[in-house]
Amino acid sequence: MDLNKLKMVLKDEPAYRLRQAEELIFKQLIEDWSEAQSLPVALRQKLKNDFPLSTESAVKFLESKDTVKAVISFSDGVKVETVLMRHKDGRNTICVSSQAGCPMGCVFCATGKGGFKRNLSASEIVWQILFFARRLKITGERIDNVVFMGMGEPFLNYDAVMEAVRLINSKDGFNIGARHISISTVGVVEGIEKLADEPIQVNLAISLHAPNDALRSRIVPANKKYPINNILWAVYGYVKKTNRRVMFEYIMIDGVNDSDDNARELAALIKKRLSLKLAFVNLITYNPTGDFKPSNRDRVKKFREIIDQENVETTERYRFGREIKAACGQLANRDVNDKTKIQRP
Ligand code: SAH
Ligand code: SF4
Repeated sequence: MDLNKLKMVLKDEPAYRLRQAEELIFKQLIEDWSEAQSLPVALRQKLKNDFPLSTESAVKFLESKDTVKAVISFSDGVKVETVLMRHKDGRNTICVSSQAGCPMGCVFCATGKGGFKRNLSASEIVWQILFFARRLKITGERIDNVVFMGMGEPFLNYDAVMEAVRLINSKDGFNIGARHISISTVGVVEGIEKLADEPIQVNLAISLHAPNDALRSRIVPANKKYPINNILWAVYGYVKKTNRRVMFEYIMIDGVNDSDDNARELAALIKKRLSLKLAFVNLITYNPTGDFKPSNRDRVKKFREIIDQENVETTERYRFGREIKAACGQLANRDVNDKTKIQRP
């Protein structure tokens, strides 16, 4: 689905028709133009021919109790993964991909190890959300949060990501509040700087994962281009301009970045640069992808205690989707085979 094409198809119609069509697609979540009773029959037919709403993507599903993973393939055969996370309180979060693969090559991440194919268009990002929104409509549910934590580095595809964000946030689109949209970056400084000037203030998360450059460069190769100090300066500027809280993500990898010293260094780093009110650390359970192991519970507890003692706030991310390899960093299109059931959204 290419939303620019929708504009083209409706260019000779009065302006309100575009808004009406968007409302039908994103709010009423119609799957076929024949459902669009509010439009004249001739226009429905034209849209059916020139802007079909049926899936252009072959989709495979894997489901577990609290997670649904969809593998969506686009017209050129490129595949991405999108994950729906169902929270106990009834909310739904969708984790979208911004690129097919990722060029950043973080050593702990299945997507990074799989290499890079291409950037996604704004429409391809939006499609991932639409896909699950239609599915949830059947049970009377909706999408509450969108996180850019699927495949890819969002700030290497900045314009398409922001175009998608505008549509996700727009009253004529999904109407999801900016506070319910989060972008996670490995630390692309230009992206952080640009985001600070956006009129829509979404949540920013920084994948830090190590408290010093020597260690971070070993596990996050992009650290050579974007060292910790440069990232923290950009975050400092972002916080100053926006007054928004920033989340520092830290995956706990056994024997790699989880020592007491690492915890002390992490707390000191954040305190040195940022107001404690506007930064917090999210300790993430590592989802094994081959080479590393997650830190054990006691280690995570101790690590957290040390940071807490320094008055830096911490949270721990609930692990979603491990049993179907649908959790962060496990998206690599590897575990879907022909036996996977295919369902309609
Ligand atoms: N490229 C962006 C966004 C996608 S990754 C980024 O790196 O921030 C989303 C989050 O999942 C990041 O914090 C990333 O470091 C983390 N992640 C990657 N592999 C993981 C794994 N195997 N287990 C847990 N988290 C992982
Ligand atoms: Fe890319 Fe993020 Fe994975 Fe690193 S962690 S390889 S930046 S998707």
